[in-house]
Amino acid sequence: MSLALVTGGSRGIGSVIAINLAKSGYDVAICYSGNEKAAEETVEKIKEAGVKAMALKADVSDPDQVSKMFSDIKEEMGNVDVLVNNAGITRDGLLISMSEESFDAVIDINLKGTFNCTKLAVKDMMRAKHGRIINISSIVGINGNAGQANYAASKAGLIGFTKSVAREYGSKGITVNAVAPGFIETVMTESLPEKVKEAYLGQIPVKRFGSAEDVAAAVEFLASDKASYITGQVLEVTGGM
Ligand code: NAP
Repeated sequence: MSLALVTGGSRGIGSVIAINLAKSGYDVAICYSGNEKAAEETVEKIKEAGVKAMALKADVSDPDQVSKMFSDIKEEMGNVDVLVNNAGITRDGLLISMSEESFDAVIDINLKGTFNCTKLAVKDMMRAKHGRIINISSIVGINGNAGQANYAASKAGLIGFTKSVAREYGSKGITVNAVAPGFIETVMTESLPEKVKEAYLGQIPVKRFGSAEDVAAAVEFLASDKASYITGQVLEVTGGM
């Protein structure tokens, strides 16, 4: 049975991606940064699909913690076949008031975290001559967004990273793609003022906000054999926004 690792799989979009992959028959490992209760709840839901599951506390921005995470997963469940780099944070603010700390934190987790995890996953995938890497970017990484220079830079960086790694390992049976969600209803977005939400809705041709399930469906497709001839792409899940 194939094994998927979903970073930031404890809650939000990552949790739905993890549960959806489990329903498709993957064993699933998730990692999280601090919210152990949410991680345990997601593990229980993954197990309900009849597959193996484990949760690991690991900060993806720290190469040592990522290295330990991969060896713990290998010992317990085997090699990672599908890596979903989903862990992400925001530290919003206009550029002139954005601290260096906020900038670095977002780049370290969203972009360097993906580098750390991908580097380790690719080694085993090369040996297996098969692998799927799916990086969760954002429409903001394509269009930019006022107040999110750090976040947009990290998500745009993920796209360049995706396209480059896809070129490096396509011949080894490894595909690397990005999913760029638009406005997805989660805790990350629910705190936005109503006026801002209405303005976004006005820009969405399908006239609804996205759900984590919409993103999970795109990930499931890219992880499947049906997507074996697709690599280096950015799949926008935005309702046409
Ligand atoms: P979320 O609800 O805030 O969940 C974030 C997840 O990442 C949690 O599991 C969290 O773990 C984990 N995490 C945070 N920092 C971490 C670290 N240093 N190491 C390991 N795990 C870490 O976020 P979300 O809204 O579901 O977003 C998921 C992804 O989709 C992100 O990459 C985000 O940028 C992207 N995205 C979201 C939207 C949207 O509308 N929500 C749109 C486009 C793209 P804990 O539970 O332990 O904190």
